[in-house]
Amino acid sequence: MKNTLHDRREFLKTAGKAGMAAGLSFTVLPSFAKDFGYASFYNIGFMQQPLPYNYNALEPHIDAMTMEIHYTKHAATYAKNLQEAAAAEGVDTKKMKLETVLSSISKYSPKMRNNAGGHYNHELFWETMSPKSEKAPDQKLGKAIEKDFGSFDTFKNQFTEAAKNRFGSGWAWLVLTDGNKLVISSTPNQDNPLMDVAEVKGRPLLGLDVWEHAYYLKYQNRRPDYINSWWNVIDWDFVEKRYRKMVND
Ligand code: MN
Repeated sequence: MKNTLHDRREFLKTAGKAGMAAGLSFTVLPSFAKDFGYASFYNIGFMQQPLPYNYNALEPHIDAMTMEIHYTKHAATYAKNLQEAAAAEGVDTKKMKLETVLSSISKYSPKMRNNAGGHYNHELFWETMSPKSEKAPDQKLGKAIEKDFGSFDTFKNQFTEAAKNRFGSGWAWLVLTDGNKLVISSTPNQDNPLMDVAEVKGRPLLGLDVWEHAYYLKYQNRRPDYINSWWNVIDWDFVEKRYRKMVND
């Protein structure tokens, strides 16, 4: 098993329960313990979580400076602005799920839309990349991709086209629809498929950030080169687990 943040979260959850059952309290915990109990597959919360790898971990495909600025400036700002919007618009971040806010985003302000989307999208983006990438999913998700797209290569080409052709800033997505069908879509700005305003609605399995801030330092205007490189860092193991959770397998 890979030693990913997800596994560490699972370990902490289990260890925490065992510890509590034994009447123990944990006084010394590693830094990632603050996300104790965080269910990353479904419940992306309102707070920015630690990056699951170092800034340089995805080199040469994504450079360290881009990762650092993207995570500590762009993504951190979405999270901060989301807190502000939530406070101003009566969203209790301790009780409400971020997904619930996204599913009725048309009822909120543009600030909420931009930052709830921005925060959710980036949290998912970090989690779906890994320095120990596999080339393609080979299990249940791999079979579903073959069923719904014909082949992995066809899926890869369609996704790449969606990412290349998104005009301006936005995201490309692999989405699971309510009918459990896999489809590709793209959204402008920080919208995502969970939003009631999305053209294609469903649950995002995998998303690619095609804002210039995600690639300009290394790739400048060459968005297609960035997209091609990103295929080398996808954490298919995570995406497979996320898919299995969604289809209750
Ligand atoms: Mn971004």
